[in-house]
Amino acid sequence: MPITALASQGGAPVRTTPWPSWPYADERTQALVRDALTSERWAISEMQQDADPYERRFARAYAEFHGVAGCAPTTSGSSALTIAFESLGLTRGAEVLVPGLTWVACASAVANAGLVPVLVDIDQTSLCMSPAAAEAAITAATEAVLLVHLSCNIADLDAFTDLCRRHGLAMVEDCAQAHGAQYRDRMVGTFGQIGAFSMQESKVLTAGEGGAAITDDPQLYRLMEQYRADGRRYAAGHRAPGLPELDEVGEVQGRNLCLSEVQAAILLGGLERLPSENARRAKNAQHLDKLVGEIPGLTPLPPQDGVTRRTYYQYAIRVDRAEFGGVDVETLRQDLVAELGVFCAPLHDPLNASLLYNPLASPHKYDATVLSRLDPRRFDLPESHRARQEFLTVPHNVLLGDGGDVEQVAEALEKIHTVRGG
Ligand SMILES: *Cc1c(COP(=O)(O)O)cnc(C)c1O
Repeated sequence: MPITALASQGGAPVRTTPWPSWPYADERTQALVRDALTSERWAISEMQQDADPYERRFARAYAEFHGVAGCAPTTSGSSALTIAFESLGLTRGAEVLVPGLTWVACASAVANAGLVPVLVDIDQTSLCMSPAAAEAAITAATEAVLLVHLSCNIADLDAFTDLCRRHGLAMVEDCAQAHGAQYRDRMVGTFGQIGAFSMQESKVLTAGEGGAAITDDPQLYRLMEQYRADGRRYAAGHRAPGLPELDEVGEVQGRNLCLSEVQAAILLGGLERLPSENARRAKNAQHLDKLVGEIPGLTPLPPQDGVTRRTYYQYAIRVDRAEFGGVDVETLRQDLVAELGVFCAPLHDPLNASLLYNPLASPHKYDATVLSRLDPRRFDLPESHRARQEFLTVPHNVLLGDGGDVEQVAEALEKIHTVRGG
């Protein structure tokens, strides 16, 4: 096929038809939402009806999906991290290891819970926190590790389970990019004391905004419920219209981070589709792996050893820039966006150079004694910066179509290689 100019330089793009839409609500989800809308109960902080609220139905289904005792839905992934760290009851000012390459909320939620995020560099082979770097970052003040299963990978849970046991650290897993993934045939989010999820619009399970925290520890679940509902939790015993859905317990100082009924109905519908959508993405990703692997200078991110069910939030490809005329990855990303007509996100900015992780700009929010320890610039994250400069990603909805879709992704990458590297 003759190579025309790149779409980013005025040529014809490879893809001109729409991609599978995201987000979307199928008939079943729309029916659930209509039912929630006409139920005259839009919040769990109101009165009981004959049927359980959607929030509780979703929480039960999501706990069951993971085989754990409890799930507390929240307004966002950030809120899920917030109630996770509040419920663990760590010492004020304690250090929490946080990967250097992740979304800002991972560090800001920890800092906002009165703790000190210690930014730890990643492992190039997984893009997740490096166990060796984590070991080196542990001090007498370290009390927890926040693992993030990034992009389409899972952190080294064997190594981190062992590390946390040896050092007596709590483990929280941020699964905002890994809904339904499995490590050694076990669901992610069930290795740590708490698993936190985001259901923001870009995620593979979404209500526009939303989140959830899961745990198999009944005492932690009891606290998480209260931290997210102003100290209230679901009433025990029989239902009776006219009684409040939530009992006032007040064992901790909570706040309102509750999901609305309409959002919960959307999530219940989305959860029913998640396993088949994850399977479809995985099948297309395997096809794409083969095609991308044949293009000089491109390597699909391999799964971490131990991943038994891989899921895809962003399909990640390592670029050898020398094969692309030495141009930077941002130029290649713009080339790809222009060829495909879809937003291909860069990896996150490392947190020691992130515009959005800036706790020193709000000194009034934090204890004066910890403020200098919150300075992100005091951490060195060379591997995170290297990855940021070497990866392209493709969004998950591109993997929801038929095999021809990923062939166009490969065609676009091949075209960029020919023009830039030829
Ligand atoms: C999206 C995301 C979050 C934050 O979720 P929100 O719902 O936007 O608050 C946290 N951690 C990771 C890894 C994410 O990708």
